[in-house]
Amino acid sequence: MPESAPARMMLQKPEVVLPAGAIIKPCPCCGAEAKIEVVFLYGTPAIRIKCPKCYMQHAPVQEGLHLFYGGREDVSFTFEEAIQKSLDIWNRRYIDSK
Ligand SMILES: [Zn+2]
Repeated sequence: MPESAPARMMLQKPEVVLPAGAIIKPCPCCGAEAKIEVVFLYGTPAIRIKCPKCYMQHAPVQEGLHLFYGGREDVSFTFEEAIQKSLDIWNRRYIDSK
């Protein structure tokens, strides 16, 4: 049996399925169509939405346990909850009424 190549951890990216009716708003900086994607943080899947034109993005929302998330302790997200949280973050807009 031939010697195998060095073992490398191949992380399978889970498929992102948006909740029914969910939208991803255009990039707030340049208006381009933003993309949702899976990234890995320390081997754990995380969701982020990113603009492919100007690279605007939000901090990835990681599946699993978050310590001190938003000032609260021991907050845990499922993969689906991480997708929803990412959508909430990206789609939030400040409306300047001045
Ligand atoms: Zn952009």
